[in-house]
Amino acid sequence: MGLKRNMKLLELKLKEYFTSLYQRALGSVIVMEWTRVQKSMFVLALMIGLSFFFLFYIAIVFLDQEWRPYINEPMFRILGLQIVATIALSSVLMWCCFIWRNSLFANQYMPFIVNAFYAVAMCANGYMLGAMSPATGIFLIGTPIIGLALFPRIIVMPLTILAMLIMMILAYAGTVGWIPYAPAFNGVERTDLQQSSIFYFYTQLYFMLPPSLIIMVLSDVIFKQWHERGREVTLLSQLDSLTNLYNRRTVNEHLERLLKMSTEADRISILLLDLDFFKQVNDTHGHMAGDDVLREVGHLLQSTMRKNDLAGRFGGEEFIVVLYRSAHEIGMSVAERIRARIAEIRVTSPAGKVVHVTASVGVSTFSPFGMTGIDQILSQADQALYTAKDAGRNQVVHYDQLSVLNPVLADHSPNFSLDHADHEHQAPNLARP
Ligand code: GH3
Ligand code: MG
Ligand code: MG
Repeated sequence: MGLKRNMKLLELKLKEYFTSLYQRALGSVIVMEWTRVQKSMFVLALMIGLSFFFLFYIAIVFLDQEWRPYINEPMFRILGLQIVATIALSSVLMWCCFIWRNSLFANQYMPFIVNAFYAVAMCANGYMLGAMSPATGIFLIGTPIIGLALFPRIIVMPLTILAMLIMMILAYAGTVGWIPYAPAFNGVERTDLQQSSIFYFYTQLYFMLPPSLIIMVLSDVIFKQWHERGREVTLLSQLDSLTNLYNRRTVNEHLERLLKMSTEADRISILLLDLDFFKQVNDTHGHMAGDDVLREVGHLLQSTMRKNDLAGRFGGEEFIVVLYRSAHEIGMSVAERIRARIAEIRVTSPAGKVVHVTASVGVSTFSPFGMTGIDQILSQADQALYTAKDAGRNQVVHYDQLSVLNPVLADHSPNFSLDHADHEHQAPNLARP
């Protein structure tokens, strides 16, 4: 009885273990989530793997006396060299991808370079094995499907069409005798094509073209929809539903990414905004009016951002703005502009009353190069915000001012906290910047 129960338990445990292992393995191959450089590296890895697989075939055929008559030895050697070159070049490209994995430039151009390289290698190998052989056909069809799943169609489609055209021209030229057909092999023309080679060419074309086109168009449509849906879902998960600004998690991720991508000369300014006496707004005018104010602040922040800047809702009535490549002065002037424009916001409450708010802003500027985490910079902006609150609200304070204005505050580094109402602090006498 006990043994049976233990066996059952073991079975359950094993099942649980393997299920979680499988899910973890699957989770780690969610290729869609990868950056374009990572996807390019994936394609290169596939190419290297496949090339070794082909090399194995070449070695076997070359070593076996029985199969020798079927191959054209000099061309077969060239095919081998071609494949070795593919491995070498793929490795070099892989290395480039690895070095520049965080560069914007590489994310833009590496996918094109890798896909073009893949297309060229496929055409060269396809020609050697026979432009009209089923193996080549499978590559011509299979590749765009994988390509469309991973990369933008603007890269995949033109390369696919080009590769198909090249293969068709090579096939035609091979069958009419302008160039050798399947030069790696002996006698493919004679055994496979015979005198009716043109007939064979058109037959192949007739049977290959419609399914190729259908598969290509269908996969394009399906993948396009899939990509769009994925983008929508991703975007929705990144946004705060009330203000349409980025949510806290996304802002944090963005900051972490900035830290990794920045160079030594970069300066980033962070603005932490908190609406003043917002509880009172809710208490006096109701939550609906409060929500309207938050929405208006969201609009305002969105309209103030440059392309590489980012605005997010950090908590209830707290917002964050990340200004890319912005030194102290720019950070302060943007903060001041936002503060002034928030004070101009007017919202009509359900009772017909005009509601207005002010905001306090804490600014911190830093060089992200070499930084390991975002806690410290958030804490700096938070200390500045806290000082602005204490100094009477509706004003902007930069963290750099703190050491001058309040040495005690600047020296200790409290844990990052959103709740300023908790701290009752002696107000340092700050003039409005
Ligand atoms: P302070 O100037 O010190 O920041 O005062 P405060 O009243 O703004 O600060 P407190 O943290 O005491 O109150 C924040 C209020 O923000 C409490 C909550 O009712 C309100 N709030 C938070 N999230 C939302 C929201 O999504 N909608 C609305 N309408 N109000 C919100
Ligand atoms: Mg507040
Ligand atoms: Mg607050």
